[in-house]
Amino acid sequence: VRIAATVAEIPSGPPEIPRVLVPTMGALHKGHLELIRVARQQAGPGGEVVVTIFVNPLQFEPGSDLSRYPRPEALDEEACRAAGVDLLFRPREAEMYQSDRSVFVEETSLSQALCGRSRPGHFRGVCTVVAKLFILFAPQIAILGQKDFQQLAIVRRMVRDLNFAVKIVGVPTVREEDGLALSSRNQYLAPEERSQAPILRAALVEAAEQVKAGEKSTAEIVRLTRARIDGAKLARIDYVDLVDAETLESRSAVEPDSLLALAVFFGKTRLIDNILLS
Ligand code: AMP
Repeated sequence: VRIAATVAEIPSGPPEIPRVLVPTMGALHKGHLELIRVARQQAGPGGEVVVTIFVNPLQFEPGSDLSRYPRPEALDEEACRAAGVDLLFRPREAEMYQSDRSVFVEETSLSQALCGRSRPGHFRGVCTVVAKLFILFAPQIAILGQKDFQQLAIVRRMVRDLNFAVKIVGVPTVREEDGLALSSRNQYLAPEERSQAPILRAALVEAAEQVKAGEKSTAEIVRLTRARIDGAKLARIDYVDLVDAETLESRSAVEPDSLLALAVFFGKTRLIDNILLS
């Protein structure tokens, strides 16, 4: 794996071989490795897999966990090497943002829902950095996880509305054996919080079963999900919402392509998860 820290080290011009981009914030876990595996597959034997690691300050709202976000540089490097990554781009903040930066990319509809309500400015930070990475690397394909379903939907919208020539591939959420979605933030959890966190997945699966059994009322599905999560002493619900998976607008009844999504705090750690209801 070649490691680049500056824009000058990125091969210039459109790539001559298929290039697949995997944008991350590092602290790589099995979820990221699955994205890299899919990237390797999509790139083919002659193609190039680029992983970026950048803890993007623009997507952290004030008072959030930017300064304590894990940055295990040597482990991440080794993980990329073992996974057959061709190029690891790991810039410093000053390489990505001028101090007097004044241009941003903002999605104005999907960003209002779900996590957008509790994290103002978050998706503006995401869109801005992802747009920059698309311009810097001009990848044919980019791989994103469905764990961050709203982020995936917003990046797809940005690509559509700004005519980026990149195909977005979404990868199903990778989970621990007990159902907890892998996340770099799971390592913040105290042992008791960690033992209660699988309730999120259990609640979502139960809700999906209720839908399969014929429940159509959003209010009832949300009530059941909240009640199940409230059973965990250390859980504090940020939101549980049932939305259209395309527009992310709230729905009063469960229809095909509905998404049940949630964010829940365990202590200071905010976890997200979601399930598609068909
Ligand atoms: P992050 O480093 O948390 O910003 O995530 C980088 C990419 O990995 C995003 O596209 C995430 O959706 C994806 N990702 C994070 N966790 C998982 C997971 N458990 N399964 C699949 N993809 C994931």
